[in-house]
This record gives sequence, C-alpha cells and structure tokens, in this order.
Amino acid sequence: MLHSTLNPTPELSSAGLDRPQPTPITVAAGDGIGPEIMTQVLRILKAAGASLAPQFIEVGEQLYRSGHSSGIAPDAWDSLHHTRVLLKGPITTPQGGGYKSLNVTLRKTLGLYANVRPCRSLAPAVSSLHPKLDVVIIRENEEDLYAGIEHQQTPDVVQCLKLVTRSGCERIVRYAFEYARNHGRRKVTCMTKDNIMKLTDGLFHRVFDEIGREYPDIQQEHQIIDIGTARLATQPERYDVVVTLNLYGDIISDVVAELTGSVGLAGSANIGRDCAMFEAIHGSAPDIAGQNIANPSGLLQAAVLMLQHLGQTQAAARVQNAWLCALEDGLHTADIYRPGHSAELVSTKGFADAVVARLGQEPSNFQGQSISTGLNPTPAAATTTPSATAPAKAEPVQQLVGVDIFLRWQHGTPTNLGEQLTAMGGERLKLKLVTNRGVKVYPDGQPETYCTDHWRCRFVAPGSAPEIGYGLVPFIDVLALQHRLTDAGLEIVKTENLYLFDGVRGFSLGQGE
Ligand code: NAD
Repeated sequence: MLHSTLNPTPELSSAGLDRPQPTPITVAAGDGIGPEIMTQVLRILKAAGASLAPQFIEVGEQLYRSGHSSGIAPDAWDSLHHTRVLLKGPITTPQGGGYKSLNVTLRKTLGLYANVRPCRSLAPAVSSLHPKLDVVIIRENEEDLYAGIEHQQTPDVVQCLKLVTRSGCERIVRYAFEYARNHGRRKVTCMTKDNIMKLTDGLFHRVFDEIGREYPDIQQEHQIIDIGTARLATQPERYDVVVTLNLYGDIISDVVAELTGSVGLAGSANIGRDCAMFEAIHGSAPDIAGQNIANPSGLLQAAVLMLQHLGQTQAAARVQNAWLCALEDGLHTADIYRPGHSAELVSTKGFADAVVARLGQEPSNFQGQSISTGLNPTPAAATTTPSATAPAKAEPVQQLVGVDIFLRWQHGTPTNLGEQLTAMGGERLKLKLVTNRGVKVYPDGQPETYCTDHWRCRFVAPGSAPEIGYGLVPFIDVLALQHRLTDAGLEIVKTENLYLFDGVRGFSLGQGE
C-alpha cells in the first residue's frame, strides 16, 4: 500500500545538504526487526541532512496474510517505478507452499542483477578474529537455483532447476571487474562448483576467464566454492572482491559479515540498469523482534550505499563517520557487545541516539576509509551492459541427437527396465543408459546402488556426427518414442532433449557413462 504521495515529508526534506530538491525514494519497513531499525535509520538520515522524500509502501507478512501471495500490493509498484530506489527492511518469508520470496521477486522484477555486499572488519572498535578483513562479495542476483522453478516428479523425487545464462554470467562478471577497477581493488576471485556442475558453474567460470582477459590490471583467480568458503573463514585477508553465483553468494556473505563481528553489521546494494534496492544482508530476526535490541547498522550501511548511489556523498560521509565514532566509543548493541571491550550495551534506539550525537565528528581509527569509494557501486559500473557493445556473435548451430526420458517406475530391477526399453528403441534412437539419481544402473549397474522411483533413460541417435559420435535425429522420432513408451504403460514424468551446439555436447554425461 502506498502511504505518502510524491510530496516530500516535512521532516526528511527540509535539511538537504547536497541537493536543492529532495530525492524521492521508496521505503519499506519490512517485518520482524524491520520497523524498529528502519525508524532509527530514517531518523539518522534526517539528522544528517540527507535530502530525501520517502514514499512508504507496505510489503511482507501483512501483505502475504491479506492475500497477496507475492508479498507486495499492486499499487506499491507505482512508487517503485517512479522513484527507482528502494530502501527496504528485512522480510519474513512465510514457510510453506504458495508464498514466493518477495526479496527474490523484487530483485528479478526490477532487474537487480548485481548484489554487492561490502564486509569490512571494524577492529579495534568491534572485536573481530580477522582485523584486516575487507572483502566485497558480488553475487549474481537473478538466476541459479533462485529461479524458484521446482517440481515434484514422483512420490519420492522433487527437483529444483538451476538456471544459468551466458548473458547473466557476462553481466555479473563484468560488473565485478568494473567494480574492482573503479574502486581501487586489486583482485577478483571467482568461486564456483564447476568440478561437479560442469555446464552451469562451468559456464560461469569460463565467462570469468574470458572477460578477465580484458582486465589485465586486476589479479584474478578461481576457487572451488567449498575450499573458497573455508579460506574466507580462516584467511579472509587473502580476498578482495569475490564474484559468485546466487546461492553461494548468499551463504558466503553471511559467513563474511559474521566474521566482521555480526551479521547485523553489513548492508547491501542490489543494482540493476534502471533501479536499485538497498537492504541489510540479515533477515527479519523474529527471535529478537520488538525488543529494541537489534543492531540497526546493516540497514544504516545500506542507507549509506543508497546515499552514495544518489550522489549525496556529504550526507553519506556524515552518517558513516558518526556511525564509526559511535562504534569506536564502544557503544555496542547486544550482538557485538563484549564485556571488557565494549564501553556500554545500548539498545537499537540508544545506538541511533549515539550516532546522531556524533554527526559532524570524524573517527580516529578509520582515517581514509571512513567513506571509502570501495563501498559504492558506481552508476557507471552498474549500468555496464557489455553485450550491447560487443560484436554480435553468430548463433550456434543446435542439433538434436537424443532425449533423456524420465520415468516414474518401480516394478522391478534396473535390468528389467533396461531390457524393456532397449526393445522399444527405434531405428534412430537407441537406449544408451539408465541412471537413477544420476548414477548409471543399466547397463552394467552395481547391485549396491540405491534406486528410487525416478529413472533417467537416455536414448541417443547413434552415428558419425561430430567427434563425440552422435547422430542427428528429427524431433518426430522423439515424439514417436514417447508414444511407444506411453502405449506400453510407462509413466513419463519429464523429458529433456539432448543437443549439440556447434558440435559440442550440450548435456552432461551420466556418472559411469
Ligand atoms: P536472520 O538474519 O533474520 O537471523 C539470524 C540470526 O542473526 C538471529 O539470531 C538474529 O537474531 C540475528 N540477527 C539478525 N539480524 C540482526 C541484527 N540486525 N541485530 C542483531 N542480531 C541480528 O536469519 P533467519 O532467522 O534465518 O531468517 C528469519 C527470516 O528472515 C526468514 O523468514 C527469512 O526468510 C528472512 N530473511 C529475509 C532476508 C531479507 O529480507 N533480505 C534475508 C535473510 C532472511
């Protein structure tokens, strides 16, 4: 629901330092601790002289419960389309079917492809195991498993589709290199799991290598996500900018933020070509909601990123410096309070009071980095769309060479199924193998392999086509095969065509194939 009009609210618009006209922004308080931290953040922004005209919209639990399964009312989009900037508190995603994560919806609907999460140790003000930690996680924000395409295929098997596009990889990887170059960062580390997911994560890695060649001034490396996460946790000072896929980025940014002292300290910018959304990286923390003990720093850091994005750098610097001063003075909320190290345990409001009281002061231990550009995703980097400038590539030749048919079946052994299917292959499509949960069970399966009710049956056209030895097959033959299987009483739950692209196999081999 849209509460205020385009007119600036008197409190927030009167004291603009940077701009004569207040900038309209959309504000959503969110759920759980969202309203209490948002109230304090807006108070600090106002006191710092940010020139903003907020339009308040309602999102999250209340909307879900009133029948908006997306968590946002249709008229709230009007504000977003007008302001193109959203400052958002965390949202609780109700458990269970029917509810889509509003965070994911907002990121995808508004085309916010880059999620930038700067995490920096604040030692000695805030105790941290890694006082030199200064890492920016750049997370792909629209694809991967977060496409949210899931299906139950048999009583035993559910699946989630991991979608990765070349254009999406190019956009985020280039964004990361541009970010590094424009913000004085020396190195970009790409993290994937391409030893297992050779097509999806493999594409991300390959694009990283390709685009990396255009940035010889930036050191670059690739690490498998598991060892990368372990090293981030133990030696974070080895890292500078990390670029990765959506799910991995979500996880490692919580790990790294927590290493700085608390997940409550880090903010993030969700950047798209036309819009931007700023939020804390943490969730709605229902366990501490309404107690006035949450740390408002993550949302405040998001607000600083927003001010920088809007070009209100003076206000951003005032807020950032005052925030650092309050932390340096040992005024700590419960998540970062350490007896003997902190001076005073403060509430959410108490911390905001401390920040407001220090507006205009400069921190003593953070000289030169109090408002570093390293926090700011510049509009230039954010709007880089390489594919618009790159020479058009010829469309690859896509050739059909077979089909994976997924069956629900539980009537015997893998050999029974394999022999039945072998007899049903036609002239141009022969059964190559049957796998169960990705492992080959026919021909030559192992008796120990556990089999569920979901079978992937690979039929390929034998022949002499490109060096990998497949032949081409018309789609009508694939349909005819499916008819034969169905007529024989087999239950097809899904099919995937097998293609070559410019003669290169566009599908993974089964384990044991
Ligand atoms: P969470 O981040 O809300 O909380 C994890 C832990 O960190 C809790 O112990 C919490 O008390 C603490 N914490 C978080 N923020 C804090 C702060 N500012 N100050 C002090 N302590 C803080 O994660 P969760 O419990 O897994 O998720 C709760 C809800 O939030 C879920 O519904 C989830 O879907 C949602 N969520 C939303 C977002 C978002 O809106 N961007 C992000 C993550 C999770």
